[in-house]
Amino acid sequence: MSQPTQILYIEDNPDNQRLVQRVLSARGYQVVIAEDGPHGLALARTSHPALVLVDLGIPGLDGYETTTRLRSLPHMQGVPIIALTADASPGSRERALVAGCDGYLSKPIDARALPAQIAEFIDGRRERLPETMETELLRSYNQKLVERLEARVRELTIANAQLQDLDRLKDQFLATLSHELRTPLTSLLGYLELFDRGMLGPLNPQQEEAVRVMRRSGEILARQLNNLLYFQEIRSRSLNFVALQPLDVLRPLIAMFRERAAQAQLQFDVTLSDTQPIEVDRSAFEHLVRNLLDNAFQYNKPGGKVRLIVRDEPTRLIMRIEDTGIGIAPAEHEKIFLPFYQVDHSLARGHPGSGLGLAIVRHIVEAHGGQIALRSAPGEGSAFTVAIPRRSVGA
Ligand code: ADP
Repeated sequence: MSQPTQILYIEDNPDNQRLVQRVLSARGYQVVIAEDGPHGLALARTSHPALVLVDLGIPGLDGYETTTRLRSLPHMQGVPIIALTADASPGSRERALVAGCDGYLSKPIDARALPAQIAEFIDGRRERLPETMETELLRSYNQKLVERLEARVRELTIANAQLQDLDRLKDQFLATLSHELRTPLTSLLGYLELFDRGMLGPLNPQQEEAVRVMRRSGEILARQLNNLLYFQEIRSRSLNFVALQPLDVLRPLIAMFRERAAQAQLQFDVTLSDTQPIEVDRSAFEHLVRNLLDNAFQYNKPGGKVRLIVRDEPTRLIMRIEDTGIGIAPAEHEKIFLPFYQVDHSLARGHPGSGLGLAIVRHIVEAHGGQIALRSAPGEGSAFTVAIPRRSVGA
């Protein structure tokens, strides 16, 4: 069975959409409707209509501009594009033809005549302008396009400046809020620690347990606030590159995570090769490794493993952090690097977090001119590989 002939109809008015749909489907055509220019262009890119009907008065990218753009698609060169308009003012037919239309039908739509008109255009009918008139009209059409473009650029520049102002305000607000919260939290944590160590008098076992829970929650809150503050800081300051031996930074971190592994009953393996000094921002470099290890422990499964592999290459330092944890679905691989993004995963839900760790990691890696790659599958664990180039090589 042959495919029905497809008509693309670009129109925002639902009454007209229904009318054309009804009239043309009764004649065996398949009518595909787009409500505006960009949608029409997207449909034209993926389908091969035999004819396009376009309402010139659609909002946004108007019918003239949509036609010009449709004409630029290679597979649309020979396809008839027919303008449909209620604008009966002098010159509107000519303007439609100069924009790239092959014909012009007036509204209201004449339901009885429409099928025959459509068939004629599909069979090859084309309306053309006399050449002298076309040149003149093309010039004024181009001018109008450029004027519209200029007005849009002006609007977008203003909107962009407003967005940047709002973004700065948001940053300021977050920074102030985190500072204001951190000060009282520090004193709360200080007193809780004194209780915990028995320095404020003996506690009974229930009180001890309550203080421990409060301390743990306070520490999580402090970590969140620190991430928030660090996120603001790292984006607003330039990095302070110094040549250092990566293992000097990594060893204390490794010791800290070994302790955590013992507490969490996870296995932590480290493979280090001898490394040459490399120019990095010390605190940023430390943050980067700490955040990746933090996640590898946090999103792991009971009895799981974490591996840190550090390899030196002549032009770069490679660090790989692997875990046997809950893993990350491919659709999330890009999104998890966005600020505040957290996977809505039932297994991950129990883990407190701010969604900033990986945004900070990516920022740091990129600020060092490096790259980060992720391999992960749900249920099978994850591996983050970071490559930091040596600045002096090829610089
Ligand atoms: P946070 O850990 O504070 O939520 P991150 O930016 O560090 O924020 O991570 C974003 C999300 O990516 C996490 O919420 C988690 O769902 C997912 N994720 C990060 N690292 C891992 C990992 N090693 N294994 C599984 N999921 C991870």
